[in-house]
Amino acid sequence: MSPIRLALVGLGKIARDQHLPAIAATEGIELVAIASRNAALDGLPHFTTLEALLASDVAFDAVALCTPPQGRREQAALALSAGKHVLLEKPPGATVSEIGPLIETAREHGLTLFATWHSRFAPAVEPARALLAKRHINTVTITWKEDVRVWHPGQDWIFAPGGLGVFDPAINALSILTRILPHPVFVTGAELAFPANRAAPIAATVEMADSNNIPIRADLDFLQTGPQSWDIRVETDAGAVVLSGGGARLTQDGVVLSDAPEAEYAGIYKHFTGLIEAGQSDVDLSPLALVADAFLLGRRVTVDAFDY
Ligand code: NAP
Repeated sequence: MSPIRLALVGLGKIARDQHLPAIAATEGIELVAIASRNAALDGLPHFTTLEALLASDVAFDAVALCTPPQGRREQAALALSAGKHVLLEKPPGATVSEIGPLIETAREHGLTLFATWHSRFAPAVEPARALLAKRHINTVTITWKEDVRVWHPGQDWIFAPGGLGVFDPAINALSILTRILPHPVFVTGAELAFPANRAAPIAATVEMADSNNIPIRADLDFLQTGPQSWDIRVETDAGAVVLSGGGARLTQDGVVLSDAPEAEYAGIYKHFTGLIEAGQSDVDLSPLALVADAFLLGRRVTVDAFDY
């Protein structure tokens, strides 16, 4: 089978840090064009918009949309209507309801739509899922605290409507949670701290549960200086199961069970090529639904204005 010809849309931080090296390392897929308003790559055809790329004579089969979530639906709809397979960065969109029509269009055209959750490809996530399937779970605590100035410098879209604020990283925790727990999770309460000058929260607590009434709590902060935390702690009948480093490392009562090198985006592109070959899509909206429900149910408090 000839390689899948991929165009990348939105050449920003995650595209450069992760997508470009992962595409280069994946068999069966090759990068053939860039669509980005202000950024280009030497040696590759460049267009400022997806529309201009689609109107060109560059032949391609698929797009990876690495733009911010606001506006991604329009790009995905355009690409699918033009017969291209689509990979969506997380979160898949700025709303939950805008994804349904994309799923329908992909199905009608026989195309692949892949809503990626990169943290689910972290090496200790599947071992954690397998371990927890055999355990009685008592409580779950998520601690996701990072410094927005370090990890998202100047990214004003994060605090614009649809940008999710602190839930931009925290949705990664929710994507892991919804993968490793044996039963669906729902939100029971939340408190969201909105900076006075911003449209998205900078900190939050979220209370959740599952059908067995397991208490699940998430403590989220975007102003964490010093040590950063991307941890999920599960108290079980066989001790504390801890996924740390964003899903990189798994311990049980302090004993290391898994600590493999990071390869999230290699996993994403392997899965994408497999989906295209199999004629399938992969869209799980459960992490985005939890964020939406936290916004629906959450009590809002106003905190100090935030500037980068
Ligand atoms: P970013 O650095 O701001 O890059 C996004 C790129 O999209 C920009 O460089 C910009 O390139 C283009 N763009 C198109 N429309 C835009 C608009 N209205 N506002 C701003 N940029 C626009 O963001 P990123 O960190 O790569 O994040 C992109 C997506 O990847 C987000 O959904 C994020 O959640 C996800 N993600 C990010 C990370 C991370 O650590 N940064 C990790 C995993 C996933 P042009 O100006 O050239 O058009």
